[in-house]
Amino acid sequence: MSKIRVRFAPSPTGALHIGGVRTALYNYLFAKKNGGTFILRIEDTDQVRYVPKAEDYIVEALNWCGISPDESPQKTGPFGPYRQSERKHIYWEYAQKLLDSGKAYMAFDTPEELENKRLEEKENGNPNFKYDANTRRFMRNSLSLSPDETKNLLENGAPYTIRLKIPENEIISFTDLIRHDVSFDSNELDDKVIMKADGMPTYHLANVVDDRLMEISHVIRGEEWLSSTAHHVLLYRAFGWEDAMPQFAHLPLILKPTGKGKLSKRDGDKLGIPVFPLSWKGESPDDSFSGFREFGFDPDAVLNFLALLGWNPGTEQEVFSLEQLIEAFSIEKISKSGARFDYNKALWFNQQYIIASSDQKLAKAIRPVIEKNGHQPPENYLEGICKLLKERVNLYPDFWTSGYYFFEDVKEYDMKTIQKKWMPERIDLFFQLQHVIKQQHPFSAENIESSVKTFINEKNLKFGDVLPILRIALSGTLKGPDLFGMIALMGADKTCKRLEKAFYLFQSAS
Ligand code: GLU
Repeated sequence: MSKIRVRFAPSPTGALHIGGVRTALYNYLFAKKNGGTFILRIEDTDQVRYVPKAEDYIVEALNWCGISPDESPQKTGPFGPYRQSERKHIYWEYAQKLLDSGKAYMAFDTPEELENKRLEEKENGNPNFKYDANTRRFMRNSLSLSPDETKNLLENGAPYTIRLKIPENEIISFTDLIRHDVSFDSNELDDKVIMKADGMPTYHLANVVDDRLMEISHVIRGEEWLSSTAHHVLLYRAFGWEDAMPQFAHLPLILKPTGKGKLSKRDGDKLGIPVFPLSWKGESPDDSFSGFREFGFDPDAVLNFLALLGWNPGTEQEVFSLEQLIEAFSIEKISKSGARFDYNKALWFNQQYIIASSDQKLAKAIRPVIEKNGHQPPENYLEGICKLLKERVNLYPDFWTSGYYFFEDVKEYDMKTIQKKWMPERIDLFFQLQHVIKQQHPFSAENIESSVKTFINEKNLKFGDVLPILRIALSGTLKGPDLFGMIALMGADKTCKRLEKAFYLFQSAS
């Protein structure tokens, strides 16, 4: 088999949607599985929709996820340039070839003329005007005008577009690796503009020419491009490249968390969940949002979640490292039907990754969260917190929300429980216990646990009379990690100060 070369070809029109990351991921997995090359090509020929920061965003998002391209505008290779705006001269050359061979023609219709024609057709009961074999002869183009008229227009610098001449009465069929046999009736297709009057190619021409020149073997892209593929097949034919046509695989939609339709930015706004990989700061607050990274996801967990949105390994396994994904991936196991975006599943994946991560890795990942809250703890303290809390959180910021008391005084005590449990006559016992805790050398979870339990037994108390009170005194809540581990980590001083303060408070409230 010839070399596998795949490309992710986003248009830099704004932040890259999470569906785009999935497309990139599937391309990446397929390339790596087959010893191939993964290319990033920036399709920036639409000047109107171009957003300057979008390319940086795409590159940063791929880097964050750890699926960096082998060839890209940033890491150029033998098939560059990888930004379409830098390849204009190439498209002209190929458009000219189609003009010369009669597969394309020049159209001089102005935007106003086209609009008038559309209105006229509408009035005649045809709301969908299509520039095609039936209508092109009534329009102003190099097929309907005489050679002299065309020459004149060109000499006078009349602006024109180049359109692909779609053949009549043909069934255009191709095999999609996911959808299998796909066909379109050429009579349904319009003579697509391939070169615009501003000198820029349209998506169709640039995409096909580049896929060919960059020797792309497989086109793996979203379902929304399926209907364009008929035009692309015709372009390959028009160039005489049919034998070198890439194989196509059109990925299923990512559906809204509930209801019909595809996942959109609005779902993210409405539900307060991320639908983009990274945050984006647009012109207005409406166009600004935060992403999976800022929500505190591990990029590997995001990839794992995305990999299973539309692909299934054919086994029960759900948690995969990137290497395992590469190993297990195949296009045949991508489903045709849309995949529902289930945010709780994303959280679940992240939780699995957090549990499986080393304390060292987690400490590094959560440091920014802790520093943002004004603390600069030593590394081993952070690692200790990670060890205690990692089974109890979903996202990195949860380490702060459920463990802030490791850094600051308790903000709020569960006084309802205290009112039930605190016996004012036992205050002295609690101070004795505080003293016992303080005496432990080394100040380890095991020592503290055994001495606290011995004390409880000696005083004929029950664990339930004492341990919940200690827990609330130290952290404010009954929900928390192992109590003795928590005490050991906080250290004798912090623990005793906190206990003392809380015991007085509990006493005065009872
Ligand atoms: N530029 C197109 C996009 O923005 C690329 C589609 C394709 O992969 O062919 O998605």
